[in-house]
Amino acid sequence: MADDPQYADALKSVGLRVTRPRMAVMHAVEHHPHADTEVIINAARDEQPDISRQTVYDALNALTATGLVRRIQPAGHLARYESRVNDNHHHIVCRSCGVVADVDCAVGEAPCLTASDDLGFDVDEAEVIFWGLCPDCTLQTRSHP
Ligand SMILES: [Zn+2]
Ligand SMILES: [Zn+2]
Ligand SMILES: [Zn+2]
Repeated sequence: MADDPQYADALKSVGLRVTRPRMAVMHAVEHHPHADTEVIINAARDEQPDISRQTVYDALNALTATGLVRRIQPAGHLARYESRVNDNHHHIVCRSCGVVADVDCAVGEAPCLTASDDLGFDVDEAEVIFWGLCPDCTLQTRSHP
């Protein structure tokens, strides 16, 4: 349920006020990993039918800004959201249907790639997205050449 105390504790831990819309959005993100905003709005409305789109957008922005939720935005795709935030995992995206899946980082710590020359920057992240065709789309391509 969206009023699970773990959501209230998480909100307090980052200094956010505990509100029902924020808890509904956290619940929706946790149960729909890599969902886009539309899916999250619909899931949040299952919990709170009167929640507005703007309220969901505001909640997602606050949750993302405080690190409770991670936003991923593969090039050419809508932003997706997930609650798996405390690791440096990567994503694999299907070029055809856009499905997104998690890939554990082989190194674990960011940045997991070493720049050949960091040009004096204090590098803290390497943005890694794996692209390809998912198994379903690969099958379709083979059966409908
Ligand atoms: Zn696909
Ligand atoms: Zn993920
Ligand atoms: Zn990595």
